Amino acid sequence: MANAHRIERVRLYPTAAQRRQLENYAGAHRWTWNWALAAREAHFAAHETSLSYYEQNRALTVRQQQPDTVWLTGIPRRVKVGALRDLDKAYRAAFRRVQRGERPGFPRFKARKRGDASFEIPAETRFDGHRVKIPGIGWVRARGGRAIAMSTTTARYFRDGVGDWWAALRYTVPLADADTSEVSAIGVHLEPGHAMTLSTGETVNESRYVSRSERKLRCLKRAVRRTQPGSGNRRRARRRFARATRHIANQRRDWQHQVSRRLVDIHPRLVMQEPGTTAHANDPESQRAVWGGRARRARISDATWGGLTRLIREKAVSAGCAAVMIPAEMPTDVTCCRCGHVRATLPELVNIWLCEQCGTLHERGMNAARNILSVGVREDARSERRREAPGDAKRLWTHDKTLAGAGEERLASASRKQ
Ligand SMILES: [Zn+2]
Repeated sequence: MANAHRIERVRLYPTAAQRRQLENYAGAHRWTWNWALAAREAHFAAHETSLSYYEQNRALTVRQQQPDTVWLTGIPRRVKVGALRDLDKAYRAAFRRVQRGERPGFPRFKARKRGDASFEIPAETRFDGHRVKIPGIGWVRARGGRAIAMSTTTARYFRDGVGDWWAALRYTVPLADADTSEVSAIGVHLEPGHAMTLSTGETVNESRYVSRSERKLRCLKRAVRRTQPGSGNRRRARRRFARATRHIANQRRDWQHQVSRRLVDIHPRLVMQEPGTTAHANDPESQRAVWGGRARRARISDATWGGLTRLIREKAVSAGCAAVMIPAEMPTDVTCCRCGHVRATLPELVNIWLCEQCGTLHERGMNAARNILSVGVREDARSERRREAPGDAKRLWTHDKTLAGAGEERLASASRKQ
């Protein structure tokens, strides 16, 4: 029996007093984060080693006894511990990126002015469909999700740019095993800044409502820049911009839900490549080279694909669909799906290309989708031979880096040239 993670996002309607408490919690989260980040940086400068989460947890107990931080003792410990945990997670992610040779993106200090107030409470939270029970605050009116019968594992609370509070409740649900009989599987190719291509030949574009809203968003951004800093006009323009940002995020989420639902309902087996870690997706220079001045737009679309794969994996398990991920570093877009020939290079702008070995004309996305499918199917067969528990969306396959039909050494030479 597999478990799936779900997130229920609900809008909160706190009273004035509850709103003040939420702001206080967010303040405590911010203070703890900044204090812990400064401590880590100082410790690293002095000893060249990293402080651990546990060391910081102990240090916090001592620190909050001091007279300037008595206000912290009134805040539930879980809120402050949540901040330490968030920071630890951010550091781990940065180190992981360093190891992979990407831009590290180390944690930054949080400014009250930036307005991204949030905090996490890693504990059970109750939601009855109308109210959320927040430790230390009590029942807060809420709307938007379905009541959660099972216990949540953690809850994140955040204030958006418009100034409204939200709760993201994370919980796990037990699921029946997915159907893994030999039925039609499809490969899904996602490329930042481009349409999604299925191995069946179908392409899916991002909703046109989103692109329309993006144009509007750019206008509103310009409107903010035209106002005087600190003026009332600036405040109102920023509010309008925040509202449009939220709107576009909702549209995007809607579209992601629709597309992922359709995919998992129709196809019993989906093979995808992990997005967002391809070389060009993380390299701003090549993004600019590919999309001209539209690097920002490309990054947005990148986030879209990430959200889409997450939803596909979440929905797949309960829809009886096996969602298989193959690693991002496989050269699925430069390998010929017919003969297995691996090209040394394929410029980002090239959409149609001819295989030098077998003479097949390929459409970039379609060829990649077919490669993704064949890798996934082969890996599935292999894992079944190993008698692994089937079904659950999982990351397969870490040691062997060949594609179907592509020789090991050919691949190695191709990756050396990259
Ligand atoms: Zn070929």
